[in-house]
Amino acid sequence: MDYVYGPGRNHLFVPGPVNIPEPVIRAMNRNNEDYRSPAVPALTKTLLEDVKKIFKTTTGTPFIIPTTGTGAWESALTNTLSPGDRIVSFLIGQFSLLWIDQQQRLGFNVDVVESDWGQGANLDVLASKLAADRYHSIKAICIVHNETATGVTNNLATVRKLLDDYNHPALFLVDGVSSICALDFRMDEWGVDVALTGSQKALSMPTGMGFVCASPKALEAAKSARSVRVFFDWNDYLKFYKLGTYWPYTPSIQLLYGLRAALDLIFEEGLDNVIARHARLGKATRLAVEAWGLKNCTQKEEWYSDTVTAVLVPQYIDSTEIVKRGWKRYNLSLGLGLNKVAGKVFRIGHLGNLNELQLLGCLAGVEMVLRDVGYPVKLGSGVAAAAAFLSNTTPLIPSRI
Ligand code: PLP
Repeated sequence: MDYVYGPGRNHLFVPGPVNIPEPVIRAMNRNNEDYRSPAVPALTKTLLEDVKKIFKTTTGTPFIIPTTGTGAWESALTNTLSPGDRIVSFLIGQFSLLWIDQQQRLGFNVDVVESDWGQGANLDVLASKLAADRYHSIKAICIVHNETATGVTNNLATVRKLLDDYNHPALFLVDGVSSICALDFRMDEWGVDVALTGSQKALSMPTGMGFVCASPKALEAAKSARSVRVFFDWNDYLKFYKLGTYWPYTPSIQLLYGLRAALDLIFEEGLDNVIARHARLGKATRLAVEAWGLKNCTQKEEWYSDTVTAVLVPQYIDSTEIVKRGWKRYNLSLGLGLNKVAGKVFRIGHLGNLNELQLLGCLAGVEMVLRDVGYPVKLGSGVAAAAAFLSNTTPLIPSRI
């Protein structure tokens, strides 16, 4: 049984997959087409141009791949690196752990820099590694911009600054799966060499598309990278880009039209407005958590994530029960704690096509669930704190001014 009916709308507040807006759903409700007709390449051309905007790049080359974030990781790694290459990678939660596991299984020599779950990447350790690496044995720095398991956002500008300060040529590979299109992300300005994301997060689409964007330096690295790759080989894409047909294999027609609609919605609101909306919703959520007397899993303000908040629960409560109860009683879907923080945190995803009142509905639901599991919360306390902040800060809807 993959779906169980509940009345009303499901309040989907897991940090991906997120709600798909109606215009995107409708755009995808269409027949297949001949992808070799003139229409699909013409559509693809506009998509590739527009996808560059969400990465904030003019010099990058985007690849739209029928895959998920995990495949996008593999595409980034195998196109730019060779087996045995030394890479520095930060372990700060479940998704960075999974990426590191992939890096190791692909045969790279992974220099893991671990932090407590709830902390950001340890950039002091990065600085000392770069300083010590006079012969440039480090070929790449891999970092998850926003660790979805703990609600931690890393400072990418600092990573770039360190690479520049030490005049280090390592490639800078960034997982932006729960950040791009929601958090401030600047591929060109931060000198990111490969950035990637997936369709089911801030783009608010179904799962199934991976987006990888390569800098000119990454494309150059791809020429000598010896990792085995077939399905993910950028060269195959580049060949078809030159021909103007774009696809080395059959694209999902429905997802392409869905992407068109998703990008149109983002540009209509304005990417910077979208980012500001996420900042607002993130802050409102944190104010609610504080009003409930609970702690954020994220240990310092500088790492607070505006796309997901992992909430620590008191030891006498199993956070898994909170998630179960929310779904069973209130048609509310919250994120589970994963791996090391299983049972200790629940996550509120506040990313994608989402507005203030939806968030307040979720927060009201969380309060009721907290009471259900025996936590002495004052009903309305988090909602009031969030609403007070949102009523002071929510602008008019840009497209309705
Ligand atoms: N990276 C991050 C930060 C994620 O949050 C996720 C999934 O939630 C992934 C990678 C893996 O993406 P996917 O599940 O689409 O393969």
